[in-house]
Amino acid sequence: MSVTDKYRIVIGLEVHAQLLTASKIFSAEPSSFGASPNTQVGVITLAHPGTLPKLNKRAFELAIKMGLACNSEVSRTNIFDRKNYFYPDLPKGYQITQDRTPVCKGGFVTIKTKEGGEQSVTLNRIHLEEDAGKSIHTEGSDTWIDLNRAGVALIEIVTEPCMSTAEEASAFVAEVRKLVRYLEICDGNMEEGSLRCDANVSIMLKDATVFGKKVEIKNMNSIRNVQRAIIVEVARQIELAERGEVILSETRTYDADKNKTFSMREKEELNDYRYFPDPDLSPVVVTDEWLMQIRETMPALPRELYQKFTSEYALSEYDASVLTDSKDIALYTEAVCRHTKNYKAVANWMMGPVKSWLNEQQKTADQFPIQPPSLATVIDLIDQGKLNFTAASQRLFPAILKSPQASVENIVAELGLANAADQNSILPIIEEVIIAFPEEVKQYKKGKGALIGMFMGEVMKRSHGKADPKTTKELLVSKLKEL
Ligand code: ADP
Ligand code: MG
Repeated sequence: MSVTDKYRIVIGLEVHAQLLTASKIFSAEPSSFGASPNTQVGVITLAHPGTLPKLNKRAFELAIKMGLACNSEVSRTNIFDRKNYFYPDLPKGYQITQDRTPVCKGGFVTIKTKEGGEQSVTLNRIHLEEDAGKSIHTEGSDTWIDLNRAGVALIEIVTEPCMSTAEEASAFVAEVRKLVRYLEICDGNMEEGSLRCDANVSIMLKDATVFGKKVEIKNMNSIRNVQRAIIVEVARQIELAERGEVILSETRTYDADKNKTFSMREKEELNDYRYFPDPDLSPVVVTDEWLMQIRETMPALPRELYQKFTSEYALSEYDASVLTDSKDIALYTEAVCRHTKNYKAVANWMMGPVKSWLNEQQKTADQFPIQPPSLATVIDLIDQGKLNFTAASQRLFPAILKSPQASVENIVAELGLANAADQNSILPIIEEVIIAFPEEVKQYKKGKGALIGMFMGEVMKRSHGKADPKTTKELLVSKLKEL
């Protein structure tokens, strides 16, 4: 039995997402990212005596949206608690969080497995809390503190210890990022820290009945690094266990350059945060009516769109997952599909010319200048044989991009692309070519079939790319046969 078969790996994740609210969770102080240090800070964050927190209702609603997207149960009575600890980046001396009444309980997130199947990752809870400030350790011995982030609204999404591979863990983070972006509750930017993931990792013998001591890994600023960090941490733990050493329950940080985890601090077994309900905040009651209002604002979720794309539009699983990966592309694709029945062609246009243009211009599909009905018209003109794909993608597409308001039919007429596939316009060219290459025609008739490519090229050139390759080939073959 190999060493890796001997152990079971247990992983649970805690994902923090900064909510896209204009102000902080308990004050009117702005919560924008990237401002000069300590410019987004007021008396609440600074904990001046006599100041009182006031809940940002929108932050609460965004947290509920996430819960609804994850099939969680929404708590109807919510209490905010104080988690007491001394930390220089939180002037109050405590963090306001939700200990016993998380806004959302349970639920699950569906991820795709490597084998193409699906798997549920069970959630323990989603709760609201305020972010802490940032301590910046300089090269000297100074520590600087930026309190801009202190008090910014966060949700913490906590999974059960139900995952067993690094791939599952990274797939979960990717799915959460997709969800928060679809819901527009967080920008999902891991590099800027608006989405952060802590990974709890432990190992146990396959036949053991109790979990091993967990190690919490912090500081992974990309999905790839979540995966890499878990892989090296599991290897480290297995190595320790094989040597008969104990695995300490501790917090470790991941260094991506060295691809190693390093100990930050040992987890105090008896962390005494002295949680108690914050007397400055009254309980928040979620009424049926309020919950219904929030439900009504829920957008289509990636999974629903994926199902629609594979069943209603009969797109392949690959196409559907590429097209639903981001909301802007998914919604644009859906809009085009409302105007044409050739869904596969829509998928090809989206994944080809449209995405290339968006990438080049660094734009999202909601900024794409061509209106969905215009793209549908292009697809239909090709299907009706009035246009060929080469002419459409190379000449018509750039022309529509230049004047997106003009009618597609007018542009087709202006560029003289119409009827390009029409036999009447190709036949004379074919005849011309046959006359121009008598020697090649003879060779072809003697059995040198490969020459068809040369004739094709010649016809395409003389038609200035307007001839439809399929029609041209059919006509050429039959004309040459007649000779
Ligand atoms: P703590 O009391 O240390 O905060 P929790 O039970 O609240 O621990 O769990 C925190 C996170 O750690 C959760 O995501 C949970 O799934 C995960 N976790 C708990 N026990 C283990 C374990 N033995 N191995 C791996 N992850 C674990
Ligand atoms: Mg906990």
